[in-house]
Amino acid sequence: MLTQVAEGVLIHESEFCQSNAVVVQGRAGVLLIDAGVHEDEIAGLASDLSDLTQTIAAGFSTHPHWDHLLWHTKLGPAPRYGTARCAATARDRLSGGIDARRFGIPEQVSLDLLGLITGLPAESTRIPWDGPEIRIIEHQAHAPGHAALLIEERGVLVAGDMLSDVLIPMLDLNSAADPIEDYLAALRLFEGLAGDVDVVVPGHGSVGGADQVRARIDQDRAYVQVLRDGQEPSDPRVGPSAKPGWEWVGNVHAGQLQRLAQRSGAPD
Ligand SMILES: [Zn+2]
Repeated sequence: MLTQVAEGVLIHESEFCQSNAVVVQGRAGVLLIDAGVHEDEIAGLASDLSDLTQTIAAGFSTHPHWDHLLWHTKLGPAPRYGTARCAATARDRLSGGIDARRFGIPEQVSLDLLGLITGLPAESTRIPWDGPEIRIIEHQAHAPGHAALLIEERGVLVAGDMLSDVLIPMLDLNSAADPIEDYLAALRLFEGLAGDVDVVVPGHGSVGGADQVRARIDQDRAYVQVLRDGQEPSDPRVGPSAKPGWEWVGNVHAGQLQRLAQRSGAPD
């Protein structure tokens, strides 16, 4: 089922971690951002779009994590893009295949077309397509080459895996030299755009209205600062106030705390 969140912008929410696929209507077909997760859901999205007589003009992956790199033959052969760094990271990480169990990938996922994306030239600031202008807001925070997309004419910010009401900031602890500062810098970047945003669509979680944009930036910043200082957060996404089904986010927090402590204790 597709839900309209702004004129010409629709989302499909997956059963898997409330993942949001975003459809943007263009002049000759749609742009599909983070196509979805379960195979039957993506196939269903493909038939919903064909019922609307919409072809897919292009795809985009916000970042190189498996749940944002999926596709289905029924979506057709549209070019699939990501930032240059996103595409390079996906290529490197997937070159030896992917261990579905290690990544906790559910059975309902088809990995056949995983990660087959083309990197846009570095420093690209717009998606190359025939539709409303879409700004690429690249930054380093959750994953290498992570990009949020700003659909300026519609006031929509597609945030990738940031600004969620259910998921805490998950830092890039694998490749970043200063994951805390990277994350804070990305939030500052979002803050600079907040005045133009009426709708925020996180990679996972609920769509937020204009009042949610700054609230979520503040909430994510507070979490990252508390994490930096090695304290326990008073964050509604962690602990007893977590949304039912999202209790595991507390483990994500504990894991991040531990890994940051190990990093700071490690010799250079
Ligand atoms: Zn994700």
